[in-house]
Amino acid sequence: MRWLVIFFWIIGIFVGITRLGPAAWGQTSAPRKSSPDVFLITIDTLRADHVGCYGYKQVETPALDALAADGIRFTEAFTHSPITNTSHITILTGLLPSVHGVTDFGVPLSPKHATAAELLKKHGYQTAAFIGAVILDSNTLAPGLDRGFDFYDNFPVDSKNKERWGRLERRGGEVVEHAETWFEKHRAGPHFVWVHLYDPHDPYEPPPPFSEKYKDHLYDGEIAYADSAVADWIAFLKKAGVYDNAIIIVTGDHGEGLGEHGEETHGLFLYDSTLHIPLILKTPGAAHHGAVIDTQVRTTDILPTILLATGVAAPAELNGESLFPLIEANTGAQSQSNRALFGETDYPLRWGWAPLRALRTENTKLIEAPRPELYDLQADPKELKNLYAPDSSKAQSMKAQMAKWKAKFPPPTNSSKPGEALPDPKDKIDVQNLLHRAMLAGDDNRSSEARQFLEKALQIDPSSPTAFRQLGELELAAGDFSNAAVHLKRACELRPEDSSDAFELGEAMEKSGDWPGARDALESSLKLAPSQMSARLLLGHVYLQLKDAKNAEDQFEAALLVDPNNSEGRLGLAEAQIQQSDFAAALTDLEAFTKTDPRNAAALRLLARVYRGLGRGQDAKRTEQQAGALEKR
Ligand SMILES: [Zn+2]
Repeated sequence: MRWLVIFFWIIGIFVGITRLGPAAWGQTSAPRKSSPDVFLITIDTLRADHVGCYGYKQVETPALDALAADGIRFTEAFTHSPITNTSHITILTGLLPSVHGVTDFGVPLSPKHATAAELLKKHGYQTAAFIGAVILDSNTLAPGLDRGFDFYDNFPVDSKNKERWGRLERRGGEVVEHAETWFEKHRAGPHFVWVHLYDPHDPYEPPPPFSEKYKDHLYDGEIAYADSAVADWIAFLKKAGVYDNAIIIVTGDHGEGLGEHGEETHGLFLYDSTLHIPLILKTPGAAHHGAVIDTQVRTTDILPTILLATGVAAPAELNGESLFPLIEANTGAQSQSNRALFGETDYPLRWGWAPLRALRTENTKLIEAPRPELYDLQADPKELKNLYAPDSSKAQSMKAQMAKWKAKFPPPTNSSKPGEALPDPKDKIDVQNLLHRAMLAGDDNRSSEARQFLEKALQIDPSSPTAFRQLGELELAAGDFSNAAVHLKRACELRPEDSSDAFELGEAMEKSGDWPGARDALESSLKLAPSQMSARLLLGHVYLQLKDAKNAEDQFEAALLVDPNNSEGRLGLAEAQIQQSDFAAALTDLEAFTKTDPRNAAALRLLARVYRGLGRGQDAKRTEQQAGALEKR
């Protein structure tokens, strides 16, 4: 049945589109030069009510305002997730977080979910993405997000930069500059270009003159700065002659708490402060320019809209609906819209707190939590008066609707053990704010401030594994390994199921020379997560220190099964073989290694030991000299 529904839905909207503007819109055939370019701009952490054209008076956002005047502005747009990665993947796949499964950083996007870039690329589009933060880097924290992009502007690997800029974050101006450079070299369209501006995300540090002009409200200063980057990008597109026929979408991935409900930033809660985002859609030829649509819409509605506007066939599963019927309805046509928002956050699970789910209709919101919440959004838009009563008819009907949504999706993968009651994030927000501040201070090398925040967090919640973990990481970075081990040991006791806690404990113990302790920690980390390459290699080295060459050999061999060319694994294995006087086995691989990498002094030193073991004194001497010469450089 489902294909039939989708078929009629596509046909229905296709008919609608042809009435909207340029005939090129609704093509479903092979790519044509006239297919519209698609420019997606996501502005991180952007609250709708902090944008000029959304009625906010304390910020200047001329570029967004002008785009809204040329396009359609959705006043009631909402994100399904208050977390950057999860939300962006929802935007790019049109799927709910629990459907695409990327509910935390570092979780790979399954290849079974097609992204906008993949779908448009198949249709002949040139595709590129320009990100403003390392949390969207597809090599590290957002694996799979680069799928379908011809070019994905990741961050440099192994940046030695101590500053946040360039290592963790790029200013909007730089992101746009990269996009323009790429575009200059790829003039032939159609294009799908995604530009991500991270600036409004905390810490709020806009560059001058915004830092001065907005010194008392720096979050707005970041928004004004991001708007100036949008202005540059739009000016570039106009100059390139592609603006008029392009589809341009601007939205936010989530908002910002700014202290509402005690939340300073975002991620933990599902209130409108972090779910209400701006959404502006400029269509080819600026059809319906200046229209304002007040119906509730969602970020899952973005991809179906792009697909219809470009004539690209939709994948079998999409959780949203095109926005075009609403645009049509706005000019008199009929549209029956029931776009309830299913909001999700598993972010609290990171700290061992309960995940939250919300159902938002135009008038009511139910938040499912250990202490549930129900709000009348008309009378109480700030969600201050919890009306939840288990037997009230409103709560019952919202719960029934919520159950229908949830029945469609699997439960969160890393949820708690059955029967375990997790704390309500509402009771933990002060701790989370402190942990977040400590993390930012740590990123900025302000370690004594970070320590103070963590100590304060531990005063409120003396059994917070995350606070102990962060303290351990601070001491690791500061080189105080035995103190780091004390904190990380506590984190492991409180959270024995966390493989990263145990890995970091192993690291701290290895660095402080406690080999047996390091061995035990790394063994238990690998029992929890066997595919960790760095833990495996480190454990191999620990066994070498313990003169347990047989076990060292096993660890390096296991690492090489995953990555046969891993240099550290190959050299570790050779060392283990040398310890066992198995010189013949070590010889073959070390000779091959030094042939392909003749400047590796450590490999040459090992090879010299092998020659000595085999009684080839002359070869050993020659190889030692080569190593010595390289070490001197
Ligand atoms: Zn974000």
